[in-house]
Amino acid sequence: MHFGLTQEQEMIVATVRNFVENEIYPHEDAVERTGEVPLEVAQAIRQKTIDLGFYACNFPTEVGGAGLSHLDFALVERELGRGSMALNHFFGRPQNILMACNPEQRERYLLPAVRGERMDALAMTEPEAGSDIRGMKCSAVRQGGDWLINGSKHFISGADHADFFIVFIATGVDETDKGPKKRITAFLVDRGTPGFTVRAGYRSVSHRGYNNCILEFDNCRLPDAQVLGQVDGGFAVMNEWLYATRITVASMSVGRARRCFDLALGFAAERRQFGQQIGKFQGVSFQIADMITEIDAADWLTLAAAWRLDQGLPANREIASAKLYATEMLARVTDASLQIYGGMGLMDDFPIERFWRDARVERIWDGTSEIQRHIISRELLRPLGA
Ligand SMILES: Cc1cc2nc3c(=O)[nH]c(=O)nc-3n(C[C@H](O)[C@H](O)[C@H](O)COP(=O)(O)OP(=O)(O)OC[C@H]3O[C@@H](n4cnc5c(N)ncnc54)[C@H](O)[C@@H]3O)c2cc1C
Repeated sequence: MHFGLTQEQEMIVATVRNFVENEIYPHEDAVERTGEVPLEVAQAIRQKTIDLGFYACNFPTEVGGAGLSHLDFALVERELGRGSMALNHFFGRPQNILMACNPEQRERYLLPAVRGERMDALAMTEPEAGSDIRGMKCSAVRQGGDWLINGSKHFISGADHADFFIVFIATGVDETDKGPKKRITAFLVDRGTPGFTVRAGYRSVSHRGYNNCILEFDNCRLPDAQVLGQVDGGFAVMNEWLYATRITVASMSVGRARRCFDLALGFAAERRQFGQQIGKFQGVSFQIADMITEIDAADWLTLAAAWRLDQGLPANREIASAKLYATEMLARVTDASLQIYGGMGLMDDFPIERFWRDARVERIWDGTSEIQRHIISRELLRPLGA
């Protein structure tokens, strides 16, 4: 066992940290105030990421990516997590599910996405189907050799900037002992396809400027060439490519928790009440001890899950544990940091209230905490026949 980073990994961490501090931090306050990332800022971040050789660093070198391992990519995400989601979105990491593209789709979607020419968004969730994806209603039926799509998706992140969408749509139904479950197919849908509309979504307290949208399909016609993977094979591509994205949520939570913690630590060492620094009161110092212990625990849990993926070991439970623990840790650390700041923690003069608000969504998206607990316990109980 070796717990240190290699020289190359140290360099990755230092490069991305430097990028986040210089290219992202300076724009954060403006994005928070306006809820938007100006186009020129987005383009500058994208171009600098390309120049640095980090654009699509999660893709293999044979398609033009940087070929990072899961562990190295977790280190990148950990650093990016320190900065605003709205801004680091343009440090492009296209969905790696695009590796399921066939050769013709590679030319139209995968390669332009990796080159930073086209942005993607991923759409599964519907108003009546969140955790229960197989309960989705958005459907595709065969008509004249094409697929006719009707229905809607909501909460779709980054859809306002996306040029195309990876959309999971019901193409059939299986009768199971738990009732009907939809068969799902993944489709590639271009912005501007007739019958397909993207409209503004809801205003969220978390991650201002990282907007979610509503997608509507009204007799939208798609040819077979838009099917990603196999017809009715949407669950297989989802399982093959998407569960690793939970490592991203865990890594980002660790990065953001460290940034928040560093500020709270500094504040505890400076702020004086009753004639001494507040960090000298056990009520504060013990919180600091608990915070750093939890951050380190989440960090190791996350890196170990990424390492298992790189080794080709089963990692479903470990990834779920990392996502669960890191996101719940972030909630506790941001809340404790705000408490250490006292009243000023709630004011937008400091980023603490933002970290606290942003933390809330991490326990919900990419599978809620309850769904992660379900995955963890299922992996343990199933072999015992329960
Ligand atoms: C800001 C934001 C951005 C998002 N971005 C995207 C995106 O880009 N693409 C996309 O497809 N989706 C996206 N999502 C959707 C996100 O993944 C879902 O919100 C999430 O899966 C939960 O679904 P839901 O909100 O419908 O809650 P529900 O599934 O309705 O859950 C409600 C509550 O019931 C609990 N619950 C449900 N089932 C169980 C169970 N079996 N056992 C125990 N408890 C259960 C949940 O844990 C939760 O507490 C986004 C969501 C948000 C808020």
